This record gives sequence, C-alpha cells and structure tokens, in this order.
Amino acid sequence: MMPRTCPECSNELQQQRLASITGEDMGWRVRALEYPVFACPRGHVLRELYPDFNTSWSTELSKVPSLWVTAPSFFRRKWRCPSCGEKQQHANTEQASRKITLHNDKEGQFSVEIAGPMRVCRRCGQGFIGKRAAGQVFEALAKALKSHKIERWR
Ligand SMILES: [Zn+2]
Ligand SMILES: [Zn+2]
Repeated sequence: MMPRTCPECSNELQQQRLASITGEDMGWRVRALEYPVFACPRGHVLRELYPDFNTSWSTELSKVPSLWVTAPSFFRRKWRCPSCGEKQQHANTEQASRKITLHNDKEGQFSVEIAGPMRVCRRCGQGFIGKRAAGQVFEALAKALKSHKIERWR
C-alpha cells in the first residue's frame, strides 16, 4: 500500500469528507454526500478511504433490493413494486429521486442521491430504477469520482 503521505508535499494525508460530489450520464444524476476520502491538508491529492472502497460501495449499491426493478417480459407488461408489492402497468417513467445510505461502518458511511427517469409506484409513491438503466447510473457515479480525481490505493 502507498504511504499515507502526499507525493508532492509529504504532509500526512488526513481523513476528510467532501460535502457533495456529482456526476451525470444520459439523464441520470448521482450525488454522493459527505463522501469520505483521504486528503492532503494542502489540497494536492484525494485518495480513496481504503483500497477498493469505491468498488465495495458500488457493489453494495447494485445489490440494494429496494432500489432496482427488473423489467417484465414483453408478454407480461406489468411490474411489481419491490416496496409494497403492487402490480402495475409498465409503460411510464417519471423524474424521481432516491436517497440511499451506504456502508454501515462508521468511518465509511455516507449517502447517495440518485435522480433520473424512474418507475414510480402508483400506490406507495416510491421510485425505482429499471435494471437496464444500471449502466448509466454507475457511469454517472464514475464521473462523480473522476471529477474530483480521487486516486486509488496502489
Ligand atoms: Zn500535498
Ligand atoms: Zn409501491
């Protein structure tokens, strides 16, 4: 693992939180709030909280069962709300957002807001992301991380 010092000024990196980092892709916007990183106190570098931190929380996000909904087959044009179980017509999506808290360990916990064209349950009002949009959601997320040049541990 790399030493926890800044390659430019040799100051020790310190744990810090970024108030908000945002990325967009094809109508989807992902915003991580209070995102934990290691940072040079003089602002030279930002680094992941620990090795594979980004990978681990992306995987966690992709497995939140109450967030994703599978598109029904062509012949069964209904989907079932993962939250309340209501069956409904598939057709429309509308602009909606969800906020998800990730990582239960204290150091790494933060939340992500995802906004975009979701399937919205007509009974409980909860928005869900069709699994086909997962690629765009994760691309938006990657752009958020890239925009702040958050380095990985090597
Ligand atoms: Zn520095
Ligand atoms: Zn519902």
